Amino acid sequence: MPVCRERFYFGMKISRATYRPLAGEFEPAWMALYRSGELGVRARIADKHLEDCDLCARYCHVNRKQTLDGVVCRTGELAVVNSAGPHHGEEDCLRGWRGSGTIFFSWCNMRCVFCQNHDISWKGQGEEKTAVELAEIMLSLQAMGCHNINLVSPSHVVAQFLAALVIAAGRGLRLPLVYNSSGYDSLEALKLLDGVVDIYMPDMKYGDPELAKKYSHTPDYVSINQAAVREMHAQVGDLRLNPDGVAERGLLVRHLVLPNGIAGTEQVMQFLAREISPHTYVNIMEQYRPAYRAGEYPELDRMITAEEYQAALDAARRAGLHRIDRRCSDRWVIRWP
Ligand code: SF4
Repeated sequence: MPVCRERFYFGMKISRATYRPLAGEFEPAWMALYRSGELGVRARIADKHLEDCDLCARYCHVNRKQTLDGVVCRTGELAVVNSAGPHHGEEDCLRGWRGSGTIFFSWCNMRCVFCQNHDISWKGQGEEKTAVELAEIMLSLQAMGCHNINLVSPSHVVAQFLAALVIAAGRGLRLPLVYNSSGYDSLEALKLLDGVVDIYMPDMKYGDPELAKKYSHTPDYVSINQAAVREMHAQVGDLRLNPDGVAERGLLVRHLVLPNGIAGTEQVMQFLAREISPHTYVNIMEQYRPAYRAGEYPELDRMITAEEYQAALDAARRAGLHRIDRRCSDRWVIRWP
């Protein structure tokens, strides 16, 4: 097969049969599936799932092409997009120097009372996008030089972004995909994404099911979340960076520290170190602010303290984790693991 050497011209149509990476050149995971035609098959299967939806761990089993009755994520056949653009506030290994190409999907399958983005996740602010429009957003992020396509809150729009990816691939998309989810994902959806997603970036929000039920209306969050993270790691392994320090493939876990130990940091870190890998890359986040309905819960109605953040880092170190993201703000003096 001839090798196409002009693929850096973004937007150019490159045929599935002729595109081949140069030796040593990075190629996103989904390219092999695109070349074989399997990516299109996955998109069609995912589209069928919309008719009896099990594409996230809510398992609504509703036909989203016909009704929104009983649809927890409030999203029908079309994805709703709040905003998209190069994001320079993500982890260094995602933002690099040209930004992470974030697409913020509206609505969510979680119901966190302290949601930090409730206008987007609870109120659904945004515009419906067709698959072609979503593909054009992906291509525009590539044209802006972003290092990756960062799908934010994608669990309920797996079918929609797969359809868009097939179109974007045919029009020259060549960026890795970041699946940036709350970690409340169904194994049915994750199986469809095997070989499609390059970087899984799930939250691990809780270590205690009772607290997950109380604050996010997800009594099964801990077991679902742990199974999802297991599956993600089985697909992509530990996070790997290129020589420039930019993530290419693997698992990156985010854990938002909540006041009064509500996030169960100790349990989460022990799980990651013992059951996933001690080499798991973890971002232990300190930016919690009481938002949305957090004021109704006195135990959530404050920011965390330096001592609480330090205790979370110490829990990670005690568990044996050693790849901790170090982008904590400088408002505290921290002893890093
Ligand atoms: S994506 Fe999840 S919340 Fe949305 S309809 Fe499907 S199962 Fe329900």
